[in-house]
Amino acid sequence: MTAKVIDGKAHAARIRAAVADNVARLREANGVTPGLAVVLVGEDPASQVYVRSKGRMTVEAGMQSFEHKLDVGVAEAELLALVERLNADPAVHGILVQLPLPDHMDSAKVIRTIDPAKDVDGFHISNVGLLGTGQKAMVPCTPLGCLLMLRETLGDLSGLEAVVIGRSNIVGKPMAHLLLGESCTVTVAHSRTRDLPGVVRRADIVVAAVGRPEMVKGDWIKPGATVIDVGINRVDAGDGKTRLVGDVDYEGCSAIAGAITPVPGGVGPMTIACLLANTLTACCRANGLPEPE
Ligand code: NDP
Repeated sequence: MTAKVIDGKAHAARIRAAVADNVARLREANGVTPGLAVVLVGEDPASQVYVRSKGRMTVEAGMQSFEHKLDVGVAEAELLALVERLNADPAVHGILVQLPLPDHMDSAKVIRTIDPAKDVDGFHISNVGLLGTGQKAMVPCTPLGCLLMLRETLGDLSGLEAVVIGRSNIVGKPMAHLLLGESCTVTVAHSRTRDLPGVVRRADIVVAAVGRPEMVKGDWIKPGATVIDVGINRVDAGDGKTRLVGDVDYEGCSAIAGAITPVPGGVGPMTIACLLANTLTACCRANGLPEPE
């Protein structure tokens, strides 16, 4: 058996095209243009790449992109003051502070300062609480992207066994809440989980968000299961070159699974597409307009 490849890149392109359509309609009918502000502190190379592509795709979708780059040594108070200014700016509908922040900053405090209505990353405690209690929230982009691919691949997820490997606040925990919302039976595994292969073998849906290259092996997978690989790990490819791999042993797992996301080209593109969709949603809510599907 060879698993169907879940094409996150193509799915993400469809979402971005739909967002662009809605943005054009919004501008024409209501004279409103959604705006996304991205704040980057320091010069982490991976973060710089993410911020650049977020800015480019924001503009491609017809939205306004506001980039704020702060020096790595900037005082926390200065960052908080910037966030407050963005909160008050009516042209800004979404605010994203790129993580990780330098060690001298309290990320939780910075995120708490973002207006929850503009918290397009869905990390503010109000949105976490809304999601956790099954209410309408800003949903974190990476798990939202995973859910959209699962729905497209499997249709109704109700009653399925789902195992989420990883319990971070940005991926594992919100993913588990989303799957519970779909009426899956959800297990959240982590570094202390006993017999991880045995736990994963029960799953109809596996979401791997661990940060360990190719950790999930083919013989952990129930035949026909759907595997979503969130991991982005840069590994040595020899000759001084590197390559990107996920948290899943792609070759081993695609021989057993029913469907699987590749790395790159799976979850990554969906994350940015969902960020744009969240910004559009935030703009519609801010203007009292109906939200797009
Ligand atoms: P974190 O490091 O915050 O969390 C990793 C989780 O994996 C923790 O809960 C940890 O358990 C668990 N874990 C670590 N080792 C093991 C193990 N041996 N067995 C079982 N569980 C283990 O990572 P993130 O959630 O932020 O990211 C996970 C991966 O997803 C990374 O590769 C990251 O680069 C990628 N990522 C990709 C995104 C995308 O857009 N595609 C977006 C965000 C992240 P414990 O809690 O016990 O320590």
